[in-house]
Parts: sequence; C-alpha cells; structure tokens
Amino acid sequence: MVTLENILGQEKPLKTIDQMINLGKRGQALLLTGRPGIGKYALAAYTAARFLCQKDNSGCGTCFSCKSIDSQNHPDYLLAFPFPNVASESKKNTLFHFCDPVTSDARFSNDTQEQVNSFLADKADDPYHLPDFKKKGNIPVSVIKDLIRAVAKRPMLGDRRAIVVCDIDQMAFGASDLFLKTVEEPPEDSLIILTTSQPHLLLPTLLSRTTKITLSPVSDQLIKAYLEKHGVDGDFEFYIRYGAGSPGLALKASEDDSIGKRDELWKITAGYIGGTTLPKTIESLRRKYQWAGNFDEVRRDFDIFEKILRDIYFLKIGLDKTLKNIDIISELTKCAKSAPSPEVLQKWFSILAKASRVHRVNNVSADIAFIGAFIEFDRAWARK
Ligand SMILES: [Zn+2]
Repeated sequence: MVTLENILGQEKPLKTIDQMINLGKRGQALLLTGRPGIGKYALAAYTAARFLCQKDNSGCGTCFSCKSIDSQNHPDYLLAFPFPNVASESKKNTLFHFCDPVTSDARFSNDTQEQVNSFLADKADDPYHLPDFKKKGNIPVSVIKDLIRAVAKRPMLGDRRAIVVCDIDQMAFGASDLFLKTVEEPPEDSLIILTTSQPHLLLPTLLSRTTKITLSPVSDQLIKAYLEKHGVDGDFEFYIRYGAGSPGLALKASEDDSIGKRDELWKITAGYIGGTTLPKTIESLRRKYQWAGNFDEVRRDFDIFEKILRDIYFLKIGLDKTLKNIDIISELTKCAKSAPSPEVLQKWFSILAKASRVHRVNNVSADIAFIGAFIEFDRAWARK
C-alpha cells in the first residue's frame, strides 16, 4: 500500500495534492513529471488511493477501497502502463481488469501477461523500483480503446474513479490522439493522473489540458535510508551519485552492477581517447554488445556513458566538484588531458544523445547505435 510514510520527499507536490483532495476537485487531469524512479508511480497511486478512499479521503489503508487498491483489483482504479507487446504467440489474455474479455481487442500472449504481472507485483512490493522489460514497450491502441470504453461506464464501487496512465510518452502511434479527448474533457466522476519523464515528447494539447506537478530530486539522506532498507551494501556514495535524486535509479545502479558496467565502458572510452584506433574501438564495442542485455539495460548504458563524457568535459574546463565517477578521478584527470577540446566534447554529447534516441525510439540495436556514435566522434574530433 502506498501511504504517505513511504513517499520520499516531495513536500511541495504533496501539498498541491492535499489541497486538491481537500477541495474535493474532480473531473480533471494531472500530469506528474520527473526522472525515472523519482516517485511518480508512488505519488500517482497515493493520490488515487486518497481520491477513492471511503474514509475521509485520507488513503487510510484499511477501508474496502484502499484494500482493493492494495490488492490491485479495485474496479474503479484503472491503471495502464507501457509493456512489451510480444506479438508472435497466440493471443488470448486481456491484461488489465478494465479490458472487457468479451469485447476487447487487447489480447496478448502468455509471455506478455507474465511480464505485466511481474511488473505489477514488483510495483506493489516497492513503487520506486524500476522493473526491467525484456523488450521495448508501449501502450497499445487496443488498450487505450478499452480504457476509453471503461471510462464511459459508471464507477462500480462508489461515485468516483481514478485513472492512472504511466509513461504516457510511450503510447503507441495513434493512441495519444485517441486518449486526448478523455484528457480534454475528463468525466465529472473521474480523476486522471498521467506520468512522464519526458514531457517534451507529449502533444502540446495534452500538456495544456493537464495540471503539471513536477517532482523534485529526493535528498541523499532519504535515498541512503531507502537503499539501506533494501539491504544494499557496497559503494553507497556511487549509487547515490548515479541516482542523482532518484531512489529508483540509485537502487537500479546497485542491482545492475553499474560500477562494473561503468568500468567496461570507461575502458573503451579511455582507450579510444588515449590512442586506440577507431577500428579497434569498434571491435571492442561489437564484442561488448554482441549479446546485448535487455532494452532497459542498454538504455542505462547510454546514461553511464553520458556520465563518463560529462566528467571528462568538466575536468577539461576545470570543474571537478560534481563528478559522478569521482572514485576514478585520477584516471579521469589523466584521460581529460588527451581528450578533445570542450567544443568537440559538446559535439560528442549531441552525437551520443542522438545515438541513444535512435536506440530508444527507432529500436536500432545497441552495437549499431554505439558504433555509429564512435564513428561520428571520430569525424568530429579529426585527430591526427
Ligand atoms: Zn481508505
């Protein structure tokens, strides 16, 4: 159960939500924004629980409504999120309880159902945890159609309904256009809560029709306590730096062996900057990503790589206060000396951002995306 006690930080957003609930506002749409793992899911679930709570809207945790949310079968708590839509097998499962098994076109394979169920179990266990999917996910049009159909009916338990759609930037082509009307004119009995870590990817009309609540970075102390609660040991400082205000990302860094991953990427980068030829660097990248991990894992590799470049850049311009990889500062400093000029490093940032985007959005494989980036690095640097 997401209660106030397990929301980390977020004084200001909580105040806004408190006022809204106390005013009894409904028929509106909220947009929670902030980095992955910062607590958007937790805050959305908490807000929904309060909105639906049968006991003084406190999110008491003990009334029938709160308990049903906790066991993830509240008929008026409609939750949707992106998931990998694995198409190959026979499709027979409807994944969300708002999908009517008789009329729904949103049917998916057993494998997809397993992944969705394990996502839900994971989030019930810890709303800050960032579960990995094996493949890139989205929110399919068929699910949005079912959601809209469900919203058109009356609430079942009481007189109100909460609709939570996570990561709405990851809606399938056509789905956001369909959903827009619901957001523009939310039914009087409903509260719509949307989340995204990439608001810049949303339709401007969707942005203008929602009340934006931006989550703030969680303090290092709270993240440390959160990691301790999860029995994390090892280099706390590293995980907190890598989380940069996001408890979910800090925990992920520890689960993910981010230090090991950082070391691998660092070896390739330092080697390249130190004089390893482009073909040899490409060879290492090809070997590394031959059996690339899951989609989310590769996406985090891009983040790690960005942090390495960022540190080199900061050292190059004489700022060494906020380094993410301070544990390898002497190697970084040495590398920064032979690194290209700050102007070229700036170009590298945009090249890397582009490579990360083609991997994320266009589903280009990890090895191709990374190799493409290094080829462009080489062009931008024009080293002798
Ligand atoms: Zn309650």
